[in-house]
Amino acid sequence: MINHKKKRHHTRYFILAAFTLVSLISFNPAPDIKVKDMKELNEAVAAVKPGGKIMLANGIWKDVEILLNAKGTEKAPIEITAEEKGKVFIEGLSNLRISGEYLVVSGLVFRNGYTPTGDVIAFREKDGVYGNNCRLTECVIDNFNNPERFETELWVSLYGKNNRVDHCYFVDKRSQGVTLAVRLEDKAGQENNHRIDHNYFGFRQKLASNGGETMRLGTSPNSLSTSGTLVEANYFEHCDGEQEIISNKSCGNTFRNNTFWECSGTLSYRHGHDNLAEGNFFFGNGKDNTGGIRIINERNKAINNYFYKLTGYRFRGALVVMNGVPNSPINRYNQVVGGVFSNNTFIDCDYIQLCAGSDAERSAVPVDTKIENNVFYHSTANQIFTAYDDISGITFTNNFLNLGVKPIVENGIELVEMKLTTNLNGLAIIESPRIHNAGCNMLKPLATAENTGVKWYPRKSVELQFGTGKDVVVEPGENTLAEAVSQGKAGDVFLLKTGNYLNSKNIFIRNAVTIKAVPGAKPVLLSEKNSMFSIENEGALKLSGLEISGRKSPDMAGNSIVTTSKYSMNRNYKLIVENCIVKDLDINYAFDFLKIYKNTMADSIVIRNCRFTNITGHVLELNKEYEDLGIYNAEYVILENSDFSDVQNSVLTVYRGGTDESTFGPFVKISDCSMIKCGKGKRNKDQNAIYLHGVQLAKINNLNLVESADFRLFLTNGDPVTKIDKLNIYPESDIVSNNKKYELTNLTHQSRNKQ
Ligand code: CA
Repeated sequence: MINHKKKRHHTRYFILAAFTLVSLISFNPAPDIKVKDMKELNEAVAAVKPGGKIMLANGIWKDVEILLNAKGTEKAPIEITAEEKGKVFIEGLSNLRISGEYLVVSGLVFRNGYTPTGDVIAFREKDGVYGNNCRLTECVIDNFNNPERFETELWVSLYGKNNRVDHCYFVDKRSQGVTLAVRLEDKAGQENNHRIDHNYFGFRQKLASNGGETMRLGTSPNSLSTSGTLVEANYFEHCDGEQEIISNKSCGNTFRNNTFWECSGTLSYRHGHDNLAEGNFFFGNGKDNTGGIRIINERNKAINNYFYKLTGYRFRGALVVMNGVPNSPINRYNQVVGGVFSNNTFIDCDYIQLCAGSDAERSAVPVDTKIENNVFYHSTANQIFTAYDDISGITFTNNFLNLGVKPIVENGIELVEMKLTTNLNGLAIIESPRIHNAGCNMLKPLATAENTGVKWYPRKSVELQFGTGKDVVVEPGENTLAEAVSQGKAGDVFLLKTGNYLNSKNIFIRNAVTIKAVPGAKPVLLSEKNSMFSIENEGALKLSGLEISGRKSPDMAGNSIVTTSKYSMNRNYKLIVENCIVKDLDINYAFDFLKIYKNTMADSIVIRNCRFTNITGHVLELNKEYEDLGIYNAEYVILENSDFSDVQNSVLTVYRGGTDESTFGPFVKISDCSMIKCGKGKRNKDQNAIYLHGVQLAKINNLNLVESADFRLFLTNGDPVTKIDKLNIYPESDIVSNNKKYELTNLTHQSRNKQ
């Protein structure tokens, strides 16, 4: 009896176990597979079935071109992920292609390398073979850049339909090419229903050329096609690549609830119709060139957005409504028709630009366009609106402006008393009992640094910073400085004593290096090489309190004190020279202070409280991008409280040629400087002391040009702003310009002494 009972129990257990096994098979037919190299990965991808999961083993995957071509289903997608998220690194010459259907790719980090093709991650196997219904989530691309600055490559190319990119972290894109592009080249990519959401777009430096967009949807030839992409709840931080943070070049896209944190540039409706921006936050916080939304084309809308302390001017304004070209070619500017800007709030935004870009070609003014229910507040400016042309095609209704700021139209903008305060979320808001049904109703930004990107990868700041490392005292002597710098770490400060520092080796600057006199000391730097310092990629140099002499330099033409790398630099560098004496750069001819090479870009060059004397070349000659493609070599050039004498070539040459309007600079500021006997060497064929070509903002204040060559301006590209105040010229030379579109006040000029 007992035995019999037992047997029945066994049978029951067996049936239960068999049932469990069957259910496991039917719900999880493929076991998770871990792969450790490309061969195993390719085999696993070839064999994977819907619902399968392939894990890349932790570690570095170097020089891999990963193709994921498999078909999952809506109910049972295929997952390709890391053994542990953030511990699988794709490095070297590598890329990833996502093709097929219903694939979910996650957990990968791309770093220390670049793509051998035009994309790091593409949603296609090859031309015409696309991924659909696929998802890229929780991946990182960090400084995965071609060392050649102008080798165009995209980080993410979205082809096909119904694809999603979410919770990714993209940071430190340097070389030319869009960070993330939606590709609409054929029908298979149009009406795509893609979703780009909750990504963290981290720092992107100024490219100083077109092609530095963080996002682009379409291109001009397919810009009248519908894209239908949703760009939602992404966080953009210091995306400064060029004037367009987002370049929209297609129809029917929605930009919703994104946050733009201190980004130079605008969300730009460059081409295409029927796009909507709503619930977005633009925080400029007073940073240069921060902008909002730029509108071109038909029925494009901006509703319920928030704009804070944006400083951008012209195409980078907080709100820019452009003029179009009559019967515009597809790659130029379509007239604004049926634009709607409603319920937006603008707080301390400096420029609202209407009919921007008006010129002989762009003569079609906006029509049938509404600006309604907006709130404009500025705490200091008395003018924020500019109309460059006839704005009668724009209807203003129920807008509010604070007292003291001049409205652009008589009706439709009501001047009322407003109070600036902050809400419980810390957001600056406007209060006024007089405002009804106007302004943005969002109480806080929905996309933040915390709820976007990935949790498992450190956030990165890209700014090169001086003085963050340790202090290193360096004794005088031969190559003591070169030795010390070569051992140093980023941010270190090298302190020099009284005495000679003779360098028979180049001093390579490969990170942020400060070289500075011990207080009260008088170090003298000399070089036996044709250049003392070479700023390499990732380098930044600050010189302070030094005497730098050329008297030990070799007897050859073309010496310099500082050079950039001779090769392309994909990272922008900095050079700061303060409280220094630079003299006797007169061994042979063409001895420059700074010699730069093509495909290099200075974030900033500053000379402050210095004396430069007896130089056979240039002090700063920033003119190596000669093809007139709108590329240039330095963003900010600042000369302050410094004297330059007996410089045979120009003290400063800055060249930015071409008519492209994608970039910000160059900016030049000269204040409290004297140039004595400068620019008049026999080998200086242009006979300029200063030559500024294509500089976008030049501010000259208190400059003495004594027995020097001309101050030459070539004002081109857009509406460059040139303000010259207190210019003293004595004698002979002149200010020479291609046109008179510069402001000149307080000129003291003793003309040529005719004998
Ligand atoms: Ca562009």
